[in-house]
Amino acid sequence: MKTKVIKLNTEELKAGDLVQAAEILQSGGLVAFPTETVYGLGANALNEEAAHKIYEAKGRPSDNPLIVHIAQVQDIETLAIDIPEKAYQLADVFWPGPLTIILKKKDCVPYSTTGGLDTVAIRLPANQIARNLIAEAGVFVAAPSANISGKPSPTKAEHVIKDMSGKIDMIIDGGMATLGLESTIIDLSGETPMILRPGCITRVMLENVIGLIDLDPTILEKNPDKNATPKAPGMKYRHYAPEGTLTIYEGDTKLVIEAINQKTKEKLESGYRVGVIATDETQAFYHYGIVKAIGSRKDEASIAAGLYGILREFDELHTEYIYTESFADNSLGQAIMNRLLKAAGYHIVKVT
Ligand code: AMP
Ligand code: MG
Repeated sequence: MKTKVIKLNTEELKAGDLVQAAEILQSGGLVAFPTETVYGLGANALNEEAAHKIYEAKGRPSDNPLIVHIAQVQDIETLAIDIPEKAYQLADVFWPGPLTIILKKKDCVPYSTTGGLDTVAIRLPANQIARNLIAEAGVFVAAPSANISGKPSPTKAEHVIKDMSGKIDMIIDGGMATLGLESTIIDLSGETPMILRPGCITRVMLENVIGLIDLDPTILEKNPDKNATPKAPGMKYRHYAPEGTLTIYEGDTKLVIEAINQKTKEKLESGYRVGVIATDETQAFYHYGIVKAIGSRKDEASIAAGLYGILREFDELHTEYIYTESFADNSLGQAIMNRLLKAAGYHIVKVT
């Protein structure tokens, strides 16, 4: 299949820009498009065959449900039943935006979209290309991240082109995904609201609106084998992973830098290609391997935005070992560490 790539600027969208993309979605095809979190791979969520194509293109396990993207808040009533007041309170504050809400599904949502579950994950994205596309198509758009399953999520069109060329109908290049991490997922289908995946909208931000929220205990688990299965099926897979072996170094910054320098030197001497993930503040202190700064510690959002891109850059360079500093696991750092831990296959070295 030939994949058409079109380039659009979110600031200068014109009528007609998304007509062809909308037609592809209406006729059961696949379109990758930018959102504020990461690039999504879209299909008509209520068309079983179309949803199935997403799993095929990504090589995604069929028990890993898709998030359904909508154009307006009241669309949740077409997709879900028993909608609690808290869903509307959250939608009011955080939609459009990087929050996914899980509700009990209506019969119209096929099990191929929900991975066999009786619940459906719903999001109203903020990116203007995404919003116009969903509205223009007039269908609900199931859209997981537009990467091959297991690879780092795509934050630029080039990442999507690399993973999806020849497998899907169209890719819309709308520049960088500004946030760079997947949406926060909150489950409102049970007794107590529970965060299943941390993201840019933090627990504190959510609790300020709807009160007490539980956190799926597997989210920051550093030794997942001993523990319960995550409630979001997708969170149980090794995920976000670069090709090289990634190890997180945790501890006092000065000691971490020393330990990473030492380890990098050893690996280089054994003939390996080695990458180091530093920050703007520490980059100058690394002396070996390919050193890249992910962002600034003074601006956690820059680290979130840089994470997947840097993992993919190291893939391009075929680094066999990658060493990274760790980040505080509260607030936005919680989402960063959650993805980093998965990317590292939970391999952490504590430096003391
Ligand atoms: P992605 O769109 O690639 O970021 O993946 C969607 C994430 O949402 C995966 O981790 C899914 O397991 C999770 N998800 C989607 N629908 C549900 C649901 N009904 N219940 C729990 N988790 C869900
Ligand atoms: Mg994904």
